[in-house]
Amino acid sequence: MILVTGGAGYIGSHVVLRLLEESDKDLVVFDNLETGHMSTIETLRSVRNFDFVRGNLKNPSDLEKLFKGFDVDSVIHFAAYIRVEESVKNPRKYYSNNLVGTINLLNKMVDHDVKRIVFSSTAAVYGEPKYVPIDESHPRQPINPYGKTKLMVEEILDDYDRAYDLKSIRLRYFNVAGADSENRIGESHIPETHLIPNILASAKDPNKVFNLFGDDYDTKDGTCVRDYVNIEDLASAHILALKYLEKTNQSDCFNIGTKNGSTVKEVFDACKKVTNEKINLKINPRRDGDPQSLVADNEKAKSILNWQPENTLLDSIKTAYAWLKK
Ligand code: UDP
Repeated sequence: MILVTGGAGYIGSHVVLRLLEESDKDLVVFDNLETGHMSTIETLRSVRNFDFVRGNLKNPSDLEKLFKGFDVDSVIHFAAYIRVEESVKNPRKYYSNNLVGTINLLNKMVDHDVKRIVFSSTAAVYGEPKYVPIDESHPRQPINPYGKTKLMVEEILDDYDRAYDLKSIRLRYFNVAGADSENRIGESHIPETHLIPNILASAKDPNKVFNLFGDDYDTKDGTCVRDYVNIEDLASAHILALKYLEKTNQSDCFNIGTKNGSTVKEVFDACKKVTNEKINLKINPRRDGDPQSLVADNEKAKSILNWQPENTLLDSIKTAYAWLKK
């Protein structure tokens, strides 16, 4: 049975959907529903039924019950806070949840002899890039607590592999975008801080202004460059990572991105094109903790996992907009 932590959240739910559709393995989703949604679980259950446990990684007793109650052999771990700026202002929240919560999870895995985990890591582990595209051997010097917690977990995973034979795949996501192409689930963060949903919200509502953070970066149009990977392509990467782990029993890490960088202004223009709406734009100062440019070298995932991004930025914007309108 596969345990998915954070399966009611944005990325977790899209991976659960793919597992429900493509795998015949049983699933248990564990989520505290603080940022995830019960309505997402209900939608997913209409595809194929699965177990859902509401609990918190910070309570080892919740985890003990979970591992005692279900015959888990692999874990996909999404449950985490994800806002860079918030992590700068409130690092305690990130260290106690993303770090201590994950250590609790790993310890229960060791106690219950569960040997495989796919871990949601991030491009934020690299910090300010020394070169782009960034490959997996780029120095890892995160510049905010969010990225630091993810790097610390990666290092703990190395130690747990050596000591306890716990094998892990760390997927270092770049910027994730889009929604289920059948429009059953999508991105619903409260508050929403991500670029594409924020631009689209302003496209949908003429009273809303889209706030662009920083147009004085050293890039082609002065705005930050990011690599937007489609959510369904990202879900495929998790399925392949789990298969790879089952087949090879080897730990590894992979960048998950497209190798194409887009500036914030380019994304803004692409959203205008997809929505055919006028969008109010306000230029603001830079946001704390934002690196100038993040683009993935994805050759390793392509050659070893046999992963290939299939969807474009426009595809992601289209599905994200369909979801927002729903
Ligand atoms: N951004 C922006 N306005 C927003 C949200 C994001 O200008 O309302 C910019 C942000 O400063 C960054 C890029 O868009 O340069 C991507 O930000 P996002 O929060 O989507 O992802 P991150 O790269 O922080 O993980």
